[in-house]
Amino acid sequence: MSDFIPTIGLEVHVQLKTKSKMFCSCSTDFGAAPNTNICPVCTGQPGVLPAKNKRAIELAVRAGLVLNCRIEKYSVFARKNYFYPDLPKAYQISQYELPITRDGFVKLSGKKIGIIRAHLEEDAGKLLHYIGSVPVDGSLVDLNRCGVPLLEIVSYPDIDSPETAFEYLKTLRRLLRYAEISDCDMEKGSLRCDCNVSVRRSVDEPLGVKTEIKNMNSFREVREAIAYEIERQKKVLSDGGKIYQETRLWNGRKGVTVEMRRKEEAADYRYFPEPDLTPIFIDEKIIEEQRKLIPKLPAERKEKLFEMGLSEYQVDVLVEERKLCDYFIAASENSNPKEVANLIITNLLGEMNKKRLDIEEVKLNPLFVGELADLKASGKISAQVVKRIFPQMFEKNIPPSQLLKNLNIVSDEGKLEKLVWEGISENSSAWEDYKMGKEKASGRIIGWVMKKTRGSSDPATVKKILERLKDEKDFDN
Ligand SMILES: [Zn+2]
Repeated sequence: MSDFIPTIGLEVHVQLKTKSKMFCSCSTDFGAAPNTNICPVCTGQPGVLPAKNKRAIELAVRAGLVLNCRIEKYSVFARKNYFYPDLPKAYQISQYELPITRDGFVKLSGKKIGIIRAHLEEDAGKLLHYIGSVPVDGSLVDLNRCGVPLLEIVSYPDIDSPETAFEYLKTLRRLLRYAEISDCDMEKGSLRCDCNVSVRRSVDEPLGVKTEIKNMNSFREVREAIAYEIERQKKVLSDGGKIYQETRLWNGRKGVTVEMRRKEEAADYRYFPEPDLTPIFIDEKIIEEQRKLIPKLPAERKEKLFEMGLSEYQVDVLVEERKLCDYFIAASENSNPKEVANLIITNLLGEMNKKRLDIEEVKLNPLFVGELADLKASGKISAQVVKRIFPQMFEKNIPPSQLLKNLNIVSDEGKLEKLVWEGISENSSAWEDYKMGKEKASGRIIGWVMKKTRGSSDPATVKKILERLKDEKDFDN
């Protein structure tokens, strides 16, 4: 069964970051009580007229630029006709033959994934099922999401493995979040992904019949669903069976895809130009305005962080979130970047995690993190001291120097020298080695002193004392 080649294309729907819906002024706020963000337009009452959301169009242009697409000067909305209980109009306003942007690509580590098109459309509502429950037995409809602006990004079938699909989604999300086009939060429904999967025996054969998988709740599930579907199709074909063009639902609990419905052809939707909306005209001015709003993107930042000497892991963590990366840049401006990266990844993210805060909610001045990094890098304070003072710095936004004053750090050289002598007598063999020129052996004595003072002595001072004592010894000899 190994001689099959998978072909995967993804359709990603992202919610554009607007305050109001695509064609009316209703709020797009997540988590509002059911059917509170609705009006005659988004519930499809007779005689109402939609109006275009300028912001959504601008964000689509910005997305087109980030995705290396051509921005169309002229595009139109189209009606996609179908009936579903969460779509009271019985049609969805989308774009069909003339989308707002097309022909782009997303660059991954090893390859480029082509983008066929990215077009504007409105979301439908949501059905809430209460089957066999009290007091409601049946399904209810919440129309809050009706008319929420979406951008549908359709990739070419350039993806050949579940891992590449995963990397594509992560890269896409990072780009759209950096440019503040979408939050891309799958849990809140601001990113959804449908996967088209087919297999064939060789590249010389035409593409196999594809199935569409829906209903994944995370990127990890997308990867699992694709992997499952590839294996399923291989098995069906190996056993002499046939793949049908159909929509399949991912069942995360069981880890399988199940048939939902055999696919309608595109013509079934009877697309036609939306008569209630004028075409979208995009001029150079809008494109230039949007281009200016795009910050330095992850690929460029990665390069800069590598130049600063960070490890691949550190770069990956810091570049994931634009605001976190900005924080790192601010903190490392005049400080040791590797140490700043350590503090951010271990201590800052640790505190944020404990308190469930986003980087936007962090009050700690990045310059204080830089100051702490330099104290640590120069050996003036130990990792234990960092661990002790960081939560207070984080909580109260205080510079480390101020906290260290209150901490009673053992920095009195006389006191420390006595402790070092004690350390030497407790670790005599290390002392002998150290005297013989084995630099590393000093670590055991320094470690002993640090332990004795529960981390509140300054390792650099201890080291200095130890060196002095050794030199004095040499002189005696
Ligand atoms: Zn509305």
